[in-house]
Amino acid sequence: MKPLVLVVEDEAALVEVLRYNLVKAGFRVNVAGDGETAKIALAEEPPDLVVLDWMLPRLSGLDVCRHIRHRPKSRDIPVIMLTARGEEADRVRGLDSGADDYMVKPFSPAELIARVRALLRRARPAGSAERFVYEDLVLDLATHKVTRSGRTVKLGPTEFRLLKVLIERPGRVFSREQLLDAVWGRDIHVEARTVDVHVRRLRQALNADGGPDLIRTVRATGYALERDEATPLSP
Ligand code: CA
Repeated sequence: MKPLVLVVEDEAALVEVLRYNLVKAGFRVNVAGDGETAKIALAEEPPDLVVLDWMLPRLSGLDVCRHIRHRPKSRDIPVIMLTARGEEADRVRGLDSGADDYMVKPFSPAELIARVRALLRRARPAGSAERFVYEDLVLDLATHKVTRSGRTVKLGPTEFRLLKVLIERPGRVFSREQLLDAVWGRDIHVEARTVDVHVRRLRQALNADGGPDLIRTVRATGYALERDEATPLSP
């Protein structure tokens, strides 16, 4: 069965361009012209991926994205946000709402297709039943679940992949560029700051129930999964 992409966009001309290119690339396409319709479409036939415009009538793309992330059935569906805004603050807001990727209009359909393919590849890891443990943290690849001290940690798809990269090599410091390559893929242009946004989200999720911070920020370098025992109590 071909993967289903839900396109949420109110500009008819852009919808047709996206539909044409996605179908040509081997996807099935459903279209919703506003946020409320998108919610219905998500419930009726859960897509493999959502291409979501920020500016929509009635419900904004940010609201739709939060809706997707807050429901267990749609939580893991990758979301690519489309927007006419190019401001860094907007980009961060888009990613903070739970989007996995972000494209500023106008963009090339070929670039969008490349990103759709990359996100779908990562959303379906090869079915190896592996389990990674670090301190009280467990990442189970078979069930796609993460627990800390036995409690389920809810992660978005990008945060899950990020944690997988980190927990495979605990203590190793990964640069932002290495994380970009490992999590987003080399064929995609993502800004280094995007890594910071997702690490922040991962850290918040892991630390939601207290316990020591397990992600070490290495200034000017990157990140490691490592309990920071050397943090001085006073400056
Ligand atoms: Ca729009």
